[in-house]
Formats: sequence, C-alpha cells, structure tokens
Amino acid sequence: MKAVYLLPCSCGKKVPVDAGQAGAQVSCECGQQLKVPTFRALKDLEQETSVAAVAIGGAKSDWNAVRGIMFSFGLLISLIATVLICYHLYTYWLMWDGGEAWKQEHLEIMREGVDYLAPADALAEFQDMATKGLTVDGVPPWSQVAGVRDSSRRWLLGALVALGVGLVSLTASLIGAGRSKAK
Ligand SMILES: [Zn+2]
Repeated sequence: MKAVYLLPCSCGKKVPVDAGQAGAQVSCECGQQLKVPTFRALKDLEQETSVAAVAIGGAKSDWNAVRGIMFSFGLLISLIATVLICYHLYTYWLMWDGGEAWKQEHLEIMREGVDYLAPADALAEFQDMATKGLTVDGVPPWSQVAGVRDSSRRWLLGALVALGVGLVSLTASLIGAGRSKAK
C-alpha cells in the first residue's frame, strides 16, 4: 500500500500526496499551486493513517457537491414558484372580480328577456341558464372565466408545492453547510 502524506496549504487544508509526486506541483482545493517536497522531506510530513480517512474525505467533497446542487435547485425552484404564484394570484384575483361582474351583467340581460315569458316558464328557463350556463351564443363568459380561474388555482397549488420543495431543499443545503462549518 502506498503511503499518503498530507501537504499543508496556507488556507488550512491538507492536500494528500504520495511519494510518486515528490518534487512535483499539486493544486489545492483553494486554487493554490503547492510544491511537493522532495522524497526525503516528504517523510517528515504528516501521514494519512488509513484508507478510511481518504474515503471520509472523498465522501465529504461529494456531500459538498450534493449540497451545491441542492442549493441551486432549491433556489431555482423557489424563484420560478414565486413568479408563478405572483402571476397566478394576480390572474385569480382579476378573474374572480371580472367573473362576478360579467356574470351579473349577463344575468341582468337574461332577466330582461325573461320578462316576456310566462312566470313559470321564465323561472324554468332562467334556472336552466343559470345552472347549465347555456346561452344562445354558446359558452357564457363566466364559464370561461371560471375555467381560467380554476386553472390558475391549480397552477397556484402546484407552485406552492414547488415553493415548499424548493425551500426545503434550500434549508437542507444551508443546515448541512452550517453543520460542516461548526465541526
Ligand atoms: Zn489551499
């Protein structure tokens, strides 16, 4: 088994090197170029004691990458979700208002038409229109509004879930970073 030595960098990290790299240059995670001592001087350096230690080091840097991805993913999802929530909240609000106004206006027109019919027929006709939403010119405007409103509501729910996922991902990556700094 090859002996692994730990070459200290001014940033505080230790770069693992082996005898084969004696006299060569290695780069630290911080970007600094470090000169590996000669074979003789290398033996004075701290030595990596076990394979497990190397494995832990590897796992740590993997975990950093995972956290980075989680952070970026969380941030991206949260931003997209926030934009969607703002947009659909606005649409929902607009449609809610517009829908009611349109509906009232249309019902008023219908009531005027209803006046020409016999009371019983008029009531039946009116109820039929109001419940089924059938008018002479096809789909009543408030049905369309309701459709848009419902789709906005679905978008809102989806975006809220996405925001939750994004925030959890962000929080998890930040908690992980805090913990590793504390160590
Ligand atoms: Zn360094």
